[in-house]
Order: sequence, then structure tokens, then C-alpha cells
Amino acid sequence: TGSSEPPPKLVLDLERLQSVPAEKAGPLARYAATIQGQRGDYNGKVLSIRTDDLRTLAVIYDVPPAVLAEQLITWGVLNADARRAVAQED
Ligand code: C2E
Ligand code: C2E
Ligand code: C2E
Repeated sequence: TGSSEPPPKLVLDLERLQSVPAEKAGPLARYAATIQGQRGDYNGKVLSIRTDDLRTLAVIYDVPPAVLAEQLITWGVLNADARRAVAQED
């Protein structure tokens, strides 16, 4: 493991998420809404999430975490730096 870089942050763009078709974004949108509710964090344009949450979402979407990260980056709802969070493990 490289120790020179800071750990990656996973940041969801909640505004972009609203423009992704519901059949794709639905599980992610529900998951993000659940985290917002648990935190009482309703007014943000972005939502920082745990690396573990991306792994959980990968189970929900039934793809490897790195594949889901690429998908979410392509949709524009996840910051590109987030791919480092799941790059080392596959
Ligand atoms: P918890 O995991 O027992 O965390 C309790 C409180 O510790 C959180 O209250 C928050 O103030 C703080 N905390 C825990 N981990 C972190 C962290 O990585 N960063 C920061 N800044 N604070 C942290 P909060 O935010 O009101 O969340 C309440 C509960 O909601 C959490 O209890 C957890 O069960 C759930 N939750 C909130 N956000 C997330 C999330 O992003 N992912 C997951 N899986 N659960 C979350
Ligand atoms: P940052 O992590 O780069 O976040 C920049 C801004 O994005 C935040 O400004 C906030 O407006 C938004 N943001 C990021 N994640 C979330 C989120 O999960 N929910 C919401 N509602 N907004 C989010 P803000 O709040 O003025 O924070 C400025 C900086 O202060 C942050 O930069 C970070 O470096 C630090 N910070 C704020 N809250 C926390 C925290 O809970 N834990 C840690 N470690 N740093 C924090
Ligand atoms: P952050 O607040 O800057 O926290 C960075 C990392 O420090 C977290 O990465 C986690 O590994 C550790 N950490 C911070 N606070 C706690 C804590 O109270 N308990 C534990 N066990 N570890 C802690 P992680 O988990 O990947 O979370 C990434 C970001 O997601 C956090 O950045 C924060 O912005 C957000 N987040 C995660 N969980 C929560 C939560 O429960 N509540 C809130 N408000 N934000 C959370």
C-alpha cells in the first residue's frame, strides 16, 4: 500500500444524481437518502460517504466495487478520485 497519498474521499453529487434515469439511479438514490436521513443532513448538494458504503452498493448493483465506481464516475455522480478507494482490492 502506498502511504504517500492521502486516503481518497468518496463524494456523491446529489444534483447530478437527480438527472440520472431512475432505473439506473434508483438504488443509489435510495441509499443516499437513507444516509441523509440517518445524519439529518438534508440540505447538501454533495454527500460524503464511507468506502464501505460503496462496497455495499456494489453488492446491490451486483458488480465488483471497481466496476461500480467507474459507472458512477461516468454518470457524473462520483468524484474520479474515488476510484482509488476500490482500486487496490480486485
Ligand atoms: P455511528 O456509525 O454509530 O456514528 C455515530 C456518530 O459518529 C455519527 O452521527 C457521526 O457524528 C460520527 N461519525 C461516525 N463515523 C464518522 C465519520 O466517518 N465521519 C464523521 N464526520 N463522523 C462520523 P451521525 O452522523 O448522526 O450518524 C448517525 C448514524 O447514522 C451512524 O451511527 C451510522 O449508523 C449512520 N450513518 C450516518 N452516515 C453514514 C454513512 O455514511 N454510512 C453508513 N453506513 N452509515 C451512516
Ligand atoms: P470538503 O470535505 O472538501 O467538503 C467541501 C464542502 O462540500 C463542504 O463544506 C460541504 O459544503 C460539502 N460537503 C462535503 N461532504 C458533505 C456531506 O456529506 N454533506 C453535506 N451536506 N455537505 C458536504 P464545509 O461543510 O464548509 O466543510 C469544509 C471542509 O471542512 C471540508 O472540506 C472538510 O475538509 C472539513 N470538514 C467539514 N465537515 C467535516 C467532517 O465531518 N469531517 C472531516 N474530517 N472534515 C470535515
Ligand atoms: P471524514 O469525516 O473526514 O472521516 C475520514 C475517515 O476517518 C473515515 O472514512 C473513517 O475511516 C474515519 N473516521 C472519522 N470519524 C470516525 C468515527 O467517528 N468512527 C470511526 N470508526 N471512524 C471514523 P470513511 O468511513 O470512509 O468516511 C468517509 C467520509 O464519509 C467521512 O469523512 C465523512 O465525511 C463521511 N461519513 C462517514 N460516516 C459518517 C457518519 O456516520 N456521519 C457523518 N456525518 N459523516 C460520515
